[in-house]
Amino acid sequence: MTVTTPPQPKCGAVRKGKTCTQVAGWGTDHVGWGSCKLHGGSTRAGRAAALRMAGEAMTDQERQALMDFARVAKLANDVGAGDRILRMAQR
Ligand SMILES: [Zn+2]
Repeated sequence: MTVTTPPQPKCGAVRKGKTCTQVAGWGTDHVGWGSCKLHGGSTRAGRAAALRMAGEAMTDQERQALMDFARVAKLANDVGAGDRILRMAQR
């Protein structure tokens, strides 16, 4: 059985010699990936980094499913979401 888990289950930011133990992406719209909201996870760069991490961890099958979903979202006239998902699925 294959279990897919994020490569970085904790935020992991180091401040003043201490490593943040919050769940990766805690308090953001990308829980499970990247920095928590206290360590830049909600910034433009923090969100982009989390999206990049999630995109790189995708299998080809997940990538295809996401691209199919993005096309459906575009058809549903939710162009913003469709474009964001397509960027995540494309390397
Ligand atoms: Zn943190």
